[in-house]
Amino acid sequence: MKVGVLALQGAFREHREVLDALGCEAIEVRLPEQLASVDALFLPGGESTTIGKLLDSSGLRLPLRARIADGLPTFATCAGLIVLASEVLDGRPDQEPLALLDVSVRRNGYGRQVASFEAPLQVEGLAGAPFPGVFIRAPLIERAGPGVDVLAGHDGAPVLIRQGRIWAASFHPELSGDLRLHQRFLQQEVAA
Ligand code: GLN
Repeated sequence: MKVGVLALQGAFREHREVLDALGCEAIEVRLPEQLASVDALFLPGGESTTIGKLLDSSGLRLPLRARIADGLPTFATCAGLIVLASEVLDGRPDQEPLALLDVSVRRNGYGRQVASFEAPLQVEGLAGAPFPGVFIRAPLIERAGPGVDVLAGHDGAPVLIRQGRIWAASFHPELSGDLRLHQRFLQQEVAA
């Protein structure tokens, strides 16, 4: 199993470190041929507008959309979730998401006062202690379509969701020091 991390901008190194700690073969994806070689993909947090522009300049936008639509197991975090959403609220006018995940997300939707915070999350099916949710200028999921499963919520809003083989978190599991979500995604969507 080869796991890719989209490495155009943002917290891709941290995802790689988690995958290394789990003993996975992980590669950074910057080119279409690298994308073609992976069995699963992580889309990191960062700045969704910048990632969107770099998807165009790298030639990755169309192959990425095609592979994910085709069932590539994909775990998107924070800005990565915005990139996959069907609707972005408070986005830039030229921000065009990939529309692979049936959600409406509001950029920086948790507001200025609580721009960054941590919260313990109860994740469906995850045994043991609550998962430490690290939220950094996080997107707020304001609507999730009927095909979207909510695996964890916080303050009445979904924060970890799954649609088909796409998982998406508005928080940063790669910054929490807890490997369980990466591990569970890979076990459930790739190893099986
Ligand atoms: N606010 C960022 C955006 O809109 C996302 C923040 C993050 O990925 N930590 O792209």
